[in-house]
Amino acid sequence: MAADGERIERRITIIGAGLAGAVLATLLARRGWHVDVFEKRGDPRVQGYAGGRSINLALAERGRHALRLAGGDDAVMAQAVMMRGRMVHFADGRTDLQRYGRDDSEVIWSVHRGELNVILLDIAERAGAHLHFDRGLESVDFPGRRATFRDPRTNLTETVDFASLVGADGAGSALRAAMSAEVDLGERTEHLGHAYKELEIPPAQDGDFRIEPNALHIWPRGRYMCIALPNDEHTFTVTLFLPNEGEPSFATVRNGADARALFERDFPDALPLIPNLEHDFEHHPTGILATLYLERWHLADRAVLLGDAAHAMVPFHGQGMNCAFEDCVSLAEHLDRNRDREAAFAEFQAERLPNARAIQQMALENYLEMRDRVDNDDYLLQRDLERRLAERHPDRFVPRYTMVSFRRVPYAVAYERGTVQRELLVELTRGHSSLDTLDWDRVDALVRERLSPLASNS
Ligand SMILES: Cc1cc2nc3c(=O)[nH]c(=O)nc-3n(C[C@H](O)[C@H](O)[C@H](O)COP(=O)(O)OP(=O)(O)OC[C@H]3O[C@@H](n4cnc5c(N)ncnc54)[C@H](O)[C@@H]3O)c2cc1C
Repeated sequence: MAADGERIERRITIIGAGLAGAVLATLLARRGWHVDVFEKRGDPRVQGYAGGRSINLALAERGRHALRLAGGDDAVMAQAVMMRGRMVHFADGRTDLQRYGRDDSEVIWSVHRGELNVILLDIAERAGAHLHFDRGLESVDFPGRRATFRDPRTNLTETVDFASLVGADGAGSALRAAMSAEVDLGERTEHLGHAYKELEIPPAQDGDFRIEPNALHIWPRGRYMCIALPNDEHTFTVTLFLPNEGEPSFATVRNGADARALFERDFPDALPLIPNLEHDFEHHPTGILATLYLERWHLADRAVLLGDAAHAMVPFHGQGMNCAFEDCVSLAEHLDRNRDREAAFAEFQAERLPNARAIQQMALENYLEMRDRVDNDDYLLQRDLERRLAERHPDRFVPRYTMVSFRRVPYAVAYERGTVQRELLVELTRGHSSLDTLDWDRVDALVRERLSPLASNS
């Protein structure tokens, strides 16, 4: 009986076999859980990836940590391209590589979304998870613990029993909508007022990359910008971010000819790299950018949300997936530790919600930094000082980008310490045009006074 009870208890049904769904399925299946995963789309390993959204993603330490626990890091890293820093393309054509970290131990990685998803599905299946494709969640009977799925190919429905549901079904989560019909989740979506379009830089004639491969390229232009991330097949995915209104904006740049005129004026060095600019602009969808806030992520012991379904964010810190993977590690640990399912969900929410809020805020702030500050003199002096302070006080002054991307300091702690650090940088550089004129005794004393040592394992 005990063994049977244990088996029933350790059952879970995940909605969505995207990035988070596949990682959570693997982590739980490896711990001996019975895991069913229902995915609206077909199996990308059979019919090719039909993801639609951004083609590559920046993977950082938090994401890699989850992948190591899931046994997927080696396979993912075999197709990842290292990005050492931002290659800033100034309006006058100059370029400058601004390193993200100290050396090549502190870098981020560009991974192909489709290839990543395929690897994650493979490891989930190998770990024993049961994957069901072409099953879009349609409705949920929470009291009866029954969920109904529709096969988009046949339009037929199927109803299955569940112990608990996990919503890993992305920003437009159907599970979230079903939960909202039962309880007020305190849902609020803030639109950024900017959108994006993906374009492509193909390989050069000799098959090599056309521009420096080991960097995230940025063309900052004040209210708007372009970025480009490398792919292992020697292409780059370019993303053009523009406001929805004003000049220029998606209201004024409406077709391929408008896009060409914009690039001729503002991104002339990028233009010859994108031979299919007009085609890409007219045929690729315009992506929406928004932040999703919820006050609660779970419905008793019946359902819980994670990843984009719980806290979609704007992509400017490259952390949405990394954060979603960290959610998976946290939820798997809480579920394993606490046999009371509702308590496990509540603990998961208590741990992760404040951290999600912090990274959502940092992602919004990073848009301003990328599009408007990386080519500004005050900012560059502050960055120099930041580097010097990180060398002088490695246990106390850890740059915010480092805490977010190369360490696993809780996001909320990174946000708090980052705010103190930013204030210090502004205060100390005010009225100076070089670091040579700083009073270093005062600088060191202020760092010691305002920043406690950061635990070396975080
Ligand atoms: C332009 C852009 C760039 C980005 N860049 C980065 C980056 O560099 N680094 C980073 O860390 N993050 C980045 N992100 C964020 C990242 O894409 C997301 O945070 C991540 O995909 C979230 O994973 P998820 O599993 O929660 O959701 P998703 O990856 O969206 O997966 C959801 C899955 O659920 C399925 N599904 C949907 N509805 C249903 C249903 N009714 N029933 C069953 N299945 C369903 C979907 O088909 C999909 O497979 C970026 C996002 C954008 C838009």
